[in-house]
Amino acid sequence: MSNRTFTMIKPDATSKGYTGAILDQIIKAGFTVKAMKWIKLSEEQAGLFYDIHRARPFFGELVDFMSSGPIVAAILEKENAVADFRDLIGATNPANAAEGTIRKNFAASIGENAVHGSDSDENAIIEGDFFFSKLERF
Ligand code: GDP
Repeated sequence: MSNRTFTMIKPDATSKGYTGAILDQIIKAGFTVKAMKWIKLSEEQAGLFYDIHRARPFFGELVDFMSSGPIVAAILEKENAVADFRDLIGATNPANAAEGTIRKNFAASIGENAVHGSDSDENAIIEGDFFFSKLERF
C-alpha cells in the first residue's frame, strides 16, 4: 500500500472556477499536497498521458478535452492514498457517483468529469513522474 496518489483538476473544472472548492474538499478529506502545478497540456502530451486509452473510441475526445485549457496537477499524500482518493472522487460517470463525492459535486458528464485520480500505486508513481521532477516535490 502506498501513501501517495496523483490527481489532475481537469479543464472543465478549472474553467468553471471550481479549482479552489475542489482543493478545499481534497485537503479537508485529509490529503496533503506534496507537489502542484497549473499547466496546459498540448494534444501530444495529453495523448501520451492517456496512452493506455489510445484504442478506445473516446480517445480523440479525451485528448481534445484534456488539452482544451489549464489543469492543476498534484501529488497527494495520505495513508491508503490511491483507494481513499478514488472514493473521494466517485465513479467515472458523475451520474453514478455517490453523494458528496467530487465528481457528484462538480462534474458534468462521463468525459468532462472534473478530476483524475490514479487507479493503482504503480500508476500514481508513473503519473507523478510525468509531471514533476525531484526538485518539484517535497
Ligand atoms: P477514471 O479512472 O475514473 O478517470 O476512468 P477511465 O480510466 O475509465 O477513463 C479515463 C478518462 O477518460 C475518464 O476520466 C474520462 O475523462 C474519459 N472517459 C471515460 N469514458 C469516456 C466516454 O465514454 N466518453 C468520453 N468522452 N470520455 C470518457
